[in-house]
Amino acid sequence: MTELLYLNDSYAATFTAKIVDSITVDGNFAVILDKTLFYPASGGQLHDTGFINDVPVINVYEDGGRIIHVLERDISAGTVECRIDWERRFDHMQQHTGQHILSQSIIRTEDAETISSSLGEECSTIDIDRETFSMEQAVRAEDEANRWVYLNVPVHVLYPTDKELEGMPLRKKPPAGKKTRIIHIEGLDYSPCGGTHCSRTGEVGVIKIRGWEKMRGKIRLEFYCGRRALKDYQSKNRIVNAVSSSLSIQESNIEESVQKLLEGNKFLQKNVRDLSYKLFEYQAQELYNACEQFGGIRIITHVMQEGSIPDLQALAQKIRSCGTCVLLLGGSGEKPAFVFSCSDNVSINLQDVLSELKPDFDVKGGGGPSMVQGGVSVQNDISVFINTAKQAVFDMLSSQMD
Ligand SMILES: [Zn+2]
Repeated sequence: MTELLYLNDSYAATFTAKIVDSITVDGNFAVILDKTLFYPASGGQLHDTGFINDVPVINVYEDGGRIIHVLERDISAGTVECRIDWERRFDHMQQHTGQHILSQSIIRTEDAETISSSLGEECSTIDIDRETFSMEQAVRAEDEANRWVYLNVPVHVLYPTDKELEGMPLRKKPPAGKKTRIIHIEGLDYSPCGGTHCSRTGEVGVIKIRGWEKMRGKIRLEFYCGRRALKDYQSKNRIVNAVSSSLSIQESNIEESVQKLLEGNKFLQKNVRDLSYKLFEYQAQELYNACEQFGGIRIITHVMQEGSIPDLQALAQKIRSCGTCVLLLGGSGEKPAFVFSCSDNVSINLQDVLSELKPDFDVKGGGGPSMVQGGVSVQNDISVFINTAKQAVFDMLSSQMD
């Protein structure tokens, strides 16, 4: 059994220990010490990292009462000097004590229990027994949590007797069969927990709920504490300043201005579409007059730059109103598209035309005998696709004449 120094002192970062055993873990050298400050991943808190005799410790976990320290390379047996990465440890302490404060604050303001929690490398979460959650509730819980930070109350580590335990208003049940360790935040919370904690709530710094999502009958809240909250604020402040400067508006008007820009953009898009469709009338007449004919049937082919299916349909409708014809229209761009259409009195089945093209082109789409539409893979040249379709139409018309 390794002596777990971190249970009674979250703040010690260096220690001297003896290597009592060494093993191999997934090809890495690992040691077991007689005592350790390295926290193993457990109870939702991440493991510590650091150095043993200047060899990096890359993972720490518990296995049957032994703490396994996985190292980057081999180390010789004997007495070793160890230090944990304090910045990482203190971050975990801020997130963990912050989580206890937030969980109890949500009980007090929203009467919602924490079902589970997780303290991650990037973000931390708690799952609460609610199906909905609002911005108002988030602000209320945050205000209460941060009030406990400002009060700067002591955080105690307790090892109560069974009798003492009975009288404690515990937030959750302690695990059976183990000596119970309680984290007591004075005036706020009693929770069974094996994690490393700040000694006063003031050290946690800001507690901020970043967002939430529905998760199968519960709500998962994402939160940041301390330095992570500061980093998040710095990053958001940078973004807000950049947006406010590029739009030349005050920070407080960003929401309203972006809304106006979006509406303006929608209006402009509609105008551009209306104008393009007006232009289609002239283009339709030009294409109709200039096209090739076969046995009195006009066969019109055209590839529109950046033409979408709705654009091609609009142009097709204008051309068809000019007279009897077969239309083979393509749209180039990121998603090449096509619309084939023919007048009702032309005896061509456009589904058959499409079937003939399918072996040679990566094409998706369908329709009826007088109208098919769809998309062609970007690997295919849309102009070649349209010309091949034209050849197929010529072949069909000439076979009808034979
Ligand atoms: Zn805990």
